[in-house]
Amino acid sequence: MEKTKEIDLASFDLPAFYEKLENANREASMRPLNILTATFNVISAMIEFVGFVVVLLTVPELWWMVFVIIVISVPSAVINFIYRRKNFRYVRHRSKDRRQMNYYVNLTVDKDLAKEVRIFDLTDTFIDKYQNVFEKYFSGIKKLIVEESLWFSGIAVVSNITNFFLYALIVYYVMSGKFLIGDYALYTGAIVSISACVSQIISISANIYEGTLFVDNLIEFMKTEPTVVCRAQMPEKAKTNCSHTIEFQNVSFKYPGADKYVLKNINLKFAPGETVVLVGLNGAGKTTLIKLLTRLYDPTEGKILLDGVDLKDYDVSSLYALFGIVFQDFGKYAFTVRENVSFGAIHKKVVDERIRESLVRSNAEDFVGRLSEKEHTPLMRIFEQNGKELSIGQWQKIAIARAFYADADILILDEPTASLDPLAEQEIFNQFDSLRADKTSIFVSHRLSSATIASQIVVLENGMVVETGTHRELMEKKGKYHLLFSTQAQRYIEEKKDVPPIHGKKEE
Ligand code: ADP
Repeated sequence: MEKTKEIDLASFDLPAFYEKLENANREASMRPLNILTATFNVISAMIEFVGFVVVLLTVPELWWMVFVIIVISVPSAVINFIYRRKNFRYVRHRSKDRRQMNYYVNLTVDKDLAKEVRIFDLTDTFIDKYQNVFEKYFSGIKKLIVEESLWFSGIAVVSNITNFFLYALIVYYVMSGKFLIGDYALYTGAIVSISACVSQIISISANIYEGTLFVDNLIEFMKTEPTVVCRAQMPEKAKTNCSHTIEFQNVSFKYPGADKYVLKNINLKFAPGETVVLVGLNGAGKTTLIKLLTRLYDPTEGKILLDGVDLKDYDVSSLYALFGIVFQDFGKYAFTVRENVSFGAIHKKVVDERIRESLVRSNAEDFVGRLSEKEHTPLMRIFEQNGKELSIGQWQKIAIARAFYADADILILDEPTASLDPLAEQEIFNQFDSLRADKTSIFVSHRLSSATIASQIVVLENGMVVETGTHRELMEKKGKYHLLFSTQAQRYIEEKKDVPPIHGKKEE
């Protein structure tokens, strides 16, 4: 969990990362402990082994038997170590199968998906898929187990035959009067115990060996170096203040592992205190632009300057602290309302007054006021019987309250109002306006009515900036923005004409 703090977001786009993570995660909790207990078991088996060896070594006729027992154990040790390694390699290379199996299980138990999975009757399909992968995965493991067992059966036959001759020799010595009858019990007992100790030492050591291989997975994962790091000492002039300039210089970007540019040659400049609205069709690259600005990813080419300093020169956590953000896929945490909001400024002492203020600003205080324990009400019914389930619009208001609570210098809302009704949206934009002072706000919005308040509208198309300007300028230009705005406005006008008022109310 500690390590994930420094893992690049880019890593989450690569299957190889999930493989490493799964391999590390699977064994991390129990392997080290197993190695520790196995080590003690080996030590105790060795002490026992030495005790019985001493018994045999003191007998001139029998001392060589110790070496026979050790020599006939060698094949068993070799097979044990070979199969522990084979097993490790198999498990490691089949990470994809296990991840797929886990994924199918999660699909069938995921609360957010439960509605769709039931309506489309997908459970059986996921179970079938699970079983297919399961059979493939376990057929490999079964093959290894069968092979290993066959080897051990062969080895057991050889070692039993050898033991038979060793016992027979002791019987012969008893019969010939060299040993007493009591010696038979002592020496055959010693042989049995030495064999048992040797096989115990071998199998436990093989397990320790396998354990260390698995721990290597963990170590390899822990060695993953983040690339989103501070390049140099944070420049003095880049220390936080309230108003910031942001500049994109020839920024182009490809997602890791992808060969297509998602953003191409972006050149933009946002003055301190501006309200910027990013506009464009789905997939135009708006969210990606936000991810680059917040340095969740580094540009493939070009650079982004904050107050004239490359983002890469900032200390990452101080940089992140500059942003109050609501992503499209914002977090819904099974904590209380108060905690959900306070997560916006986790390193500061929680101030209840400000929590309430943020809830008011995000238009959430109405429904929170109606909850049984107000802002102390636990959300979601995963842990608490009295947990409250919220609508997606209510969750969104909580997420917006979190951004308000962050009281950050740069406010970013990525499609913040997608699940809100127009009245709530207008109210939130007004709140942002009043709160803004000299803070920079950046909105991504599909409802172009919100763009009218912007000091700069940026129109993105296929990863390129095609227009920038104010609402008035872009409308006069009669370009892309004009087309998008007029199409949307026309739709609203037609809907208002055509449908009864109850429907019309849902739109602006
Ligand atoms: P918008 O916010 O304008 O709808 P995005 O910035 O989310 O668009 O996406 C732009 C393009 O980048 C899309 O074609 C999308 O498929 C691609 N994309 C988004 N996220 C990733 C990712 N993590 N890995 C690869 N491609 C991505």
